[in-house]
Formats: sequence, structure tokens, C-alpha cells
Amino acid sequence: MRKLFKQHTIAMVYDFDGTLSPQPMQEYTVLPELGVSPQAFWDECQREAKKYNADAMLTYMRLLTEKIEAKQTHLNKKKLRDLAKGIRYFPGVETWFDRINRHVRETSAGKIKIKHYIISAGLKEILEGIKIRKYFERMYASEYYFDHHDAARFPTVVINDTSKTQYIFRINKGIEDINQSINDYMPECERPIPFENMLYIGDGLTDVPCMTVTKNNGGFALAVYKPRNPQSLAVCRKLARANRIDYFAPADYRAGKTLEKRVKLILDVIMARIMFHREQFTFQRGIDRP
Ligand SMILES: [Mg+2]
Repeated sequence: MRKLFKQHTIAMVYDFDGTLSPQPMQEYTVLPELGVSPQAFWDECQREAKKYNADAMLTYMRLLTEKIEAKQTHLNKKKLRDLAKGIRYFPGVETWFDRINRHVRETSAGKIKIKHYIISAGLKEILEGIKIRKYFERMYASEYYFDHHDAARFPTVVINDTSKTQYIFRINKGIEDINQSINDYMPECERPIPFENMLYIGDGLTDVPCMTVTKNNGGFALAVYKPRNPQSLAVCRKLARANRIDYFAPADYRAGKTLEKRVKLILDVIMARIMFHREQFTFQRGIDRP
């Protein structure tokens, strides 16, 4: 029998592009650096993916290295990280994590921990340089192999919408290092962050697999839309009608806004459940005591 109750950690898992930041990260960083118009780049990615019947993520990663080569520029790891300074965030994102962490700390009298994660199909090399980096326990994203000239040559990690779910299981089982096998059996009660303690936040159809995995296993999922953007709102409505999410809200992370209220409400439910499970755990261990 377990001696200690350990499932007292909450995980908030975020998509990045369109969720924390309005545009795909490449549009604030590599594309302007290369002088390439975002629309032209994404159109070309789509055409090429169709032409070669190729994975969309692998195609954009290939095209990016080709553009870098064609411009004869040197976009090494450090440069990509530095470019992340140009990324813009939705309002309130930069103060969001401190507010959320404080809410959990104060409500649980410090007994419950919260960890934040990013799972993104964007580039890890860019994410390493984001202003809000310090708030994340771990960031999972696509990565390049850099050769001896420090030039991006080939993908080492590719993350797309369905492979995103693998990282939800890694967080759930506490096997966060991608070199470790995820498939060994682990009983629910031994998993460091049960699905019930998870909240996934995304903005679109590419988040459906993660939303489904989280929600179907007892966790929560939420979608955000770009304020004053009917297309983005329509996507959220579609997700809500299909019961993929618990709520949607405008991507406005400022204090007192709808998103913060709904997230705090979900966190309160998760915290109450953790406290219930902890009490039950202590109770069950004492049943046969004299
Ligand atoms: Mg997104």
C-alpha cells in the first residue's frame, strides 16, 4: 500500500500559436528575418505538401531550411532564440502565470502544486527564447538537427496534432524525457499527474486530439478565440457543439476577464477533488487501525 498521497499536482497544458500568441511564431521571427511573406510561405507549404503527399509539418520544416539556404543567412540556434523577442502575446499573458500560481497556492494553503507545459507544432529553438519561458516546466515542440556549421539540416523531433497527445501521456506518467519509453504499464494511482488534474488550452482543430484525450479521461479542455475574429469564434463554437471542450472564451488573459474566471473555476474543482482524494486516502489507511 502507498504510504503517501502524491497526486497533488495540477498540469496546465497550452498550445502556443493562436493560444498564447495571435499568429504562428514563424511570422514574428524567421519569416520577417528571411524577408518572406507569411501568406506566400504557408501557401507554398500547402502546395508542396499536396504535391508530394507529404506531412504538413515536415514540409514547413524542409521549406524553412531551404529558404535559409537560399538567402545564404545563418540562422543558428542562438539566432532563432534571439528572434523570439519579436513574438507578441495576447493581452495579460505575461502576468497570467503568476496570477494563476498565486490562486492555487492561496486556495490550497500551499498544499497543491501547479505546473505549466507547452505542446506546440512550432519550433523549440524559437520557444527557448520566449519572454515567458521561465513559467514552463517543459516545452515540447518540433526541433532541428544542427550540423557542424551550426545550420539546421533535418528534423530531430516533429510534432503534429495527433503526435501532440503522446506528450499529454508523458506529463500524466511523469516520463517527461522524450528518450524514455512511454509505453510501459503504470497503474492510474501511481501516475504523478492524473488526467483529472489536467487542463488543456488550445485554439483550433489541431488541438482536438489533445482536448479529447484530456477530457475523455476526466480532465478539462478549454478553447480560446481571437477577440473580434468571427472565423476564430466559429471554430470554438464548433468545438463546443461537438463537446470537445468545457468552455471557450476570448484569448484575453487579463485579470478579471472571462478566461481567468473560467480557468479559476476549473482549478477550484480540481483542487477540491485533490483534497477529497487526499482525505479519502488518509481515511482508507486508517480503517483497520485500533
Ligand atoms: Mg494553435
